[in-house]
Amino acid sequence: MSYLDTIEELVQAGLHPAKTCAQTKASTGKQLIGCVPYHTPDEVIYAGNCIPVGLWGGNPEFKLADTYLQGFCCGLLRAVMEYAMDGTYNILSGIVCPTFCDSMKCTLEDLKVATPESIPVIGMSYGQQRKIKAGRDFTIREYKRVRHEIEKIAKTAITDEKVEAAYQIYEDYRAAMRAFETAAAEHPEIITSKKRMMIIKAGLYMDKAEYTPKIREITEGLKAAPASDYDGKRIIITGIMAEPAAILDIFDENGLAVVADEMSLGSRLWRSKGRDDVEDVYEKMAYRYADTKADCFMYEPEKLRGQYMMELKDKYDADAIVIMMEKFCDPEEYDYPIYKAELEEAEVPMLYMEVDQQTTGFEQIRTRVQSFREMLD
Ligand code: SF4
Repeated sequence: MSYLDTIEELVQAGLHPAKTCAQTKASTGKQLIGCVPYHTPDEVIYAGNCIPVGLWGGNPEFKLADTYLQGFCCGLLRAVMEYAMDGTYNILSGIVCPTFCDSMKCTLEDLKVATPESIPVIGMSYGQQRKIKAGRDFTIREYKRVRHEIEKIAKTAITDEKVEAAYQIYEDYRAAMRAFETAAAEHPEIITSKKRMMIIKAGLYMDKAEYTPKIREITEGLKAAPASDYDGKRIIITGIMAEPAAILDIFDENGLAVVADEMSLGSRLWRSKGRDDVEDVYEKMAYRYADTKADCFMYEPEKLRGQYMMELKDKYDADAIVIMMEKFCDPEEYDYPIYKAELEEAEVPMLYMEVDQQTTGFEQIRTRVQSFREMLD
């Protein structure tokens, strides 16, 4: 089997989350724990002999979610609520839900009453003053509280040694993703915008021990491939996630290749490296969180996101930045005026689009993407 087959395998896995989760459960024989974005302590879950799987919304027919969530809540959380209530999540043995935005805080409490009793819902808070010891200690206490809750679900003790082993598997995954991102950017003719996103997304639903070798195989294949003949434009995307995927088709049709991202369902998952000079595994996890920069969920007085995107643009030789603004998303909207001013001052070509997972009509977006592409020529 060639690495091109592996690409197609992961693209299909990313396109069909429910099927991939069912396959993962069947092939590993392990319980699945749903992780509402963002930055969940997946290593702790994995150490409990469970597989963390991402709950990143979708496009359900809404019938139940409005019982708990207002119409101006983001589509991601409304979809999570709908799936929790309509039985889609019954494959899960538990749900971990962080509280980075106000809507998530409400959703956490709503999920506790909306999901069946057989699916415990576990909250997770993070110290926003994450760089100081008190903030790291707070986050570590939260990791350990989640560990305790996972122990109850998994009916097994989660020792520090198990967490350390899981942390190494996740560090391998993150390193492999960083290498993949670099190799993929060299070959937009193979890794189209949509394929790139689906390959990344597949990792949310698979056992990392199985997924990471496939990513390495793809990276090696890309490195050995003949030099790219791609003659379109190269873009960086920023936001929560690049969905619906039909928008990525529109990029591809118009000769716009996503060569890097600054996204939650993207490089925010892997771009912070763990520290080598820290012993305790929980400290390592807290430091990874503390060292993360330019992420809208982290308190950052310096507001480095615009600067970070310009660095990405230079590193990946990109022509433009596309802002995929999640509808009704406060954390993303708060950052926008600041980095917009910086990118404008640097004369970086930018396209702003509001996105919603439940969008079904794409003609307006298609026209705007076509115009933007012409502008870049
Ligand atoms: S951060 Fe934005 S997209 Fe994410 S859950 Fe909150 S409002 Fe929704």
